[in-house]
Amino acid sequence: MTDHKKRTKAVHGGVRRSQYNEVSEAIFLTQGFVYDTAEAAEARFLKAGEDEFIYARYGNPTVAMFEDRIAALEGAEDGFATASGMAAVNGALTSMLQAGDHVVSSRALFGSCLYILEEVLTRFGVEVTFVDGTDLDQWASAIRADTKAVFFESMSNPTLQVIDIKAVSALAHAVGAVVIVDNVFATPVFSDAIAQGADVVVYSATKHIDGQGRALGGIILGKQEFIRGTVEPYMKHTGGSMSPFTAWMMLKGLETMDLRVRAQAMSAQLLAEALQGHKALKNVIYPGLSDHPQHDLAMAQMGAGGTVLAFDCGSQAQAFEVLNKLEIVLISNNLGDAKSIATHPATTTHQRLPDAQKDSLGITPGLVRLSVGLEDPADLVNDLMQALG
Ligand SMILES: *Cc1c(COP(=O)(O)O)cnc(C)c1O
Repeated sequence: MTDHKKRTKAVHGGVRRSQYNEVSEAIFLTQGFVYDTAEAAEARFLKAGEDEFIYARYGNPTVAMFEDRIAALEGAEDGFATASGMAAVNGALTSMLQAGDHVVSSRALFGSCLYILEEVLTRFGVEVTFVDGTDLDQWASAIRADTKAVFFESMSNPTLQVIDIKAVSALAHAVGAVVIVDNVFATPVFSDAIAQGADVVVYSATKHIDGQGRALGGIILGKQEFIRGTVEPYMKHTGGSMSPFTAWMMLKGLETMDLRVRAQAMSAQLLAEALQGHKALKNVIYPGLSDHPQHDLAMAQMGAGGTVLAFDCGSQAQAFEVLNKLEIVLISNNLGDAKSIATHPATTTHQRLPDAQKDSLGITPGLVRLSVGLEDPADLVNDLMQALG
């Protein structure tokens, strides 16, 4: 498998077949596993083998298939599947940190990520320094000899800033800090994060991996020693494991993810180009446009602009008017879905940020985030055009 390309791994990676040799992966909806003898139970609790399971919070065959499949296509040694993307972000950070540790993070983060870094970790005595993730000088001066970890979204939500994984990793590795990347907007399809220097990659599987808006899920990917030695003990005892049914959905999602995400990214590029310069808009933000401040970096790091774009309608009233006129695009807050979804970050996903922080992150009152789905792109362009009218 290791020589195969991503698309092949996304279809065949991690398969474990039962005695029936089924083609489609089986769902093992079981929380427990039977031991032949009391001695076998004792031995398994002491050290479980590769295909030996104890309790679904610790591991399950369907969940293990999902972990192995996505680890294979991401180029990671191992992975731990979680109940949601936030369980993955929290698990990656909390499992490795303790009071007195220092973390450097980019400030442009998804609201719940910001909550973990700003409110939860600091409550337990972890010191967190926030930087503008696109400014390498700020990373260089914030990272100290005793920095334990750096954290950032490789493409930020919702303003689509792209952060240089290679350059930030080099700065972090110079002091032995662990690089944890929330890679949701890059998607596993356009990600080469581990080869570019990330030690740990985190995904919300809720987004492009499921891709059909059905279930919450997440994954923490990294070196086997980190995943099994640091993450697994924390996750299995604190209850953030993925359910087998969800793992089965995510496994099937991975099979079509490459086709879906490439089609969505092509439509996003087309929409961004169609909207660029529209007189009702102050700007269009999309890393695939040549006027995006990190366009060259996005192309080098991901090879595409991704599936999400943003545009500024000028004011909240105008943004609401556009949202309310959309006929195909839904007003909701997921992304990476087959259905195109428009979000007003300032009043929903990023509502709790103080106004000054919204300003500094570019979350303006007129900003709309658009997650591009699988509809015909011509219909989407028409829908946006009539809404902008
Ligand atoms: C959605 C999202 C998360 C959280 O994922 P959930 O599955 O909703 O818990 C974390 N980071 C980013 C960048 C996201 O977009």
